[in-house]
Amino acid sequence: MPRPVNNDGALRSFEEASGSLEERICAALAKLALAARHDYRRRASAEGLSVIQAQALSLLAREGPVEIGRLASRLALTPATVSDSVAALERRGLVGRKPGAGDRRRVRVEATARGKRLGASMMLWPEIFQGAVGGLDEAEKAVLFRVLAKMILTLLERGTIQQARICFTCAYFRPNVHENADRPHHCALVDVPLGFASFRLDCPDHEAGLSAAGALAELDGWLRVAR
Ligand code: SF4
Repeated sequence: MPRPVNNDGALRSFEEASGSLEERICAALAKLALAARHDYRRRASAEGLSVIQAQALSLLAREGPVEIGRLASRLALTPATVSDSVAALERRGLVGRKPGAGDRRRVRVEATARGKRLGASMMLWPEIFQGAVGGLDEAEKAVLFRVLAKMILTLLERGTIQQARICFTCAYFRPNVHENADRPHHCALVDVPLGFASFRLDCPDHEAGLSAAGALAELDGWLRVAR
């Protein structure tokens, strides 16, 4: 049986050395980000790809043909950097270029069938997270999702991230319109009820609606977690 700590001074210095809860949360997130980056780099390099090439291929596999400028802005990189990666992918037969439908000078990059398969496999979430999140119960997953959604919206509001095609800032999102506690919201585009089981974080059909600040102010009311 451990003895309770009676020495206030020792307890205070132990807690000071541990850092504040906020500092430890930041350190935990940094650790997870590092592990995810490491895992992604390992998977990309196993396929002979750089991280940028893997990200470009995943995006092309998901979204279809895209102009270089748009590809660069979606990856938050310069067009020159993305051009080099596209040229390398082209040499391996993973992407091709095709003229735009309306304007033949607006060349778009398109993944080949092999490129799409490889890009789709690079989209899978890091195995390290699959194992860790899989061990949480449904209530824990819901709380974690709410916290992560809040952090994404905060970073969006501050301009740290430029884009997050998330339901809560979408013009098609209709909050709290159903009695169903599991799916109280609605997507007016696809006409389906929404809840923790189906919120999207990177939806190709997203249309700008509520600002990140507006969504943040409402989020706790939208994402109620059953205890
Ligand atoms: S269009 Fe996509 S982002 Fe918008 S509410 Fe529907 S599912 Fe969510």
